[in-house]
Amino acid sequence: APVIVWFRDDLRLADHPALSHAVASGAPVLCLFVHDPRTAPSGAAQWWLHGGLCALRDDLSRMGATLHVAHGDATVLVPRLAQLAHAAQVVWNRRYDPQGRETDTTIKAALKQDGVAAHSFAASVMHEPWTVRTRAGDAFRVYTAWWRAARAMGDPPPPLPAPRRIGDAGMPDGWRAECVGIDALGFLPVAPDWAGGLRATWHPGEAAARARLHEFVQDDMAGYATARDRPDLPATSMLSPALRFGHISPRQAWHAVACDGGGAAEDRAKFLAELGWRDFAVSLLYEQPELVRSNFRTEFDAMPWRNDARDLHAWQQGCTGYPIVDAGMRQLWRTGWMHNRVRMIVASFLTKHLLMDWRVGEGWFRDTLVDADIASNVVNWQWVAGCGVDAAPYFRVFNPVLQGKKFDPDGTYVRRWVPELAHLPASRIHCPWTCAPAEVPRGYPAPIVGLDEGRARALSAWRGLSGAT
Ligand code: FAD
Repeated sequence: APVIVWFRDDLRLADHPALSHAVASGAPVLCLFVHDPRTAPSGAAQWWLHGGLCALRDDLSRMGATLHVAHGDATVLVPRLAQLAHAAQVVWNRRYDPQGRETDTTIKAALKQDGVAAHSFAASVMHEPWTVRTRAGDAFRVYTAWWRAARAMGDPPPPLPAPRRIGDAGMPDGWRAECVGIDALGFLPVAPDWAGGLRATWHPGEAAARARLHEFVQDDMAGYATARDRPDLPATSMLSPALRFGHISPRQAWHAVACDGGGAAEDRAKFLAELGWRDFAVSLLYEQPELVRSNFRTEFDAMPWRNDARDLHAWQQGCTGYPIVDAGMRQLWRTGWMHNRVRMIVASFLTKHLLMDWRVGEGWFRDTLVDADIASNVVNWQWVAGCGVDAAPYFRVFNPVLQGKKFDPDGTYVRRWVPELAHLPASRIHCPWTCAPAEVPRGYPAPIVGLDEGRARALSAWRGLSGAT
């Protein structure tokens, strides 16, 4: 009887415990992906998913296996396939987000009722949420303490190799009608085709992700500890979408960096700590699923967020009049990715200078990021907005001019993404309103809110909250 391997956010063959388990059983393997609209990504991340599925299909086919793709309610489709295929087991790698967990629990129960075994494995994080605990057995709420405890547990286990060959189970009778081609999932934009910048920037799939990891470790990691804050330099790994869709596992990234990595010890340590943030975000959401929609610090429920469509549009389009904010928002729109430092700057600008709800920004990121990930996105938005767990205090308002001068000192990043300002000298590129009127190109907006005015409005709203500290 075949084993069904259900692929989800783990579109790879190496370090895939569920696939390795299925192959090791000696039974024929049926590889499945279900596009369930309730757990599916949207926008730019869907574009990535399309490429990732095509790459997985091709990689599986080289191993002699077929990727069966279905569209619909996974809680119906997975048990149905198990029955049609007379499967002995269904196996998958665990996910930790609220909707995903609920779906998996329902499916496990349905399979059990049908007499089909279900096995799940740890593969998408280095430390599963329930494994890192305080001495009293509680969940951590402070990253530094969580990280210390996680490090004390030692290195994550070494990654598994990809199987050499997969014995394909073939298509069961009665299932053909459920199967769709990847193109039929409708993940690619038709008109307008907004994905040109994405195609020019990215190559979804396991081979490209492994090549990038190797290149990063060998060539680009030196200086990461300091240069990672500079959006004008190619200093970070840009592996976030590959990690999001599981083309590489965090364990693979960990071992590539910790064991084979070049660069200084402090560069390696900083990179591993960033991977740790990814796990920490997953565990926070696991402990408190309501964080997806609700402020961790409930005093923020009374925040008088503004609802101003014009300001929101200016932020989304990169037309706020603050060059570093506009550069980031345009990089996001064109490439589906934004540098981490700039994500913090634009998020602070929206939630503080524009006094808009972090959920509005989180929604825009969810639609436009190729690496959009519910845990990382929600936790980081709440962190910047000051309402989250272990968050930056609300009164710490990023000044976009000073941030620009500090982290894009020559204005290279702004010149790239806001080309109409390219001729301005480095001393003025982050504050074009200080130039002579003739120097500022027509069309580039004046600041939509004054720096001091926005800051004062935000702080006054925050002081009005009872319990604000
Ligand atoms: P590197 O510096 O090379 O870091 C390596 C890996 O560590 C990343 O690929 C990522 O998986 C992880 N990582 C790094 N920083 C963080 C962090 N702060 N939180 C969680 N994981 C981290 N990251 C996402 O993957 N998806 C999101 O939806 C997302 N939304 C964000 C929203 C906001 C408002 C902010 C401030 C940050 C967000 N991040 C998100 C975190 C971070 O910006 C990206 O992971 C990082 O910029 C990816 O670039 P990189 O791969 O070059 O990072």
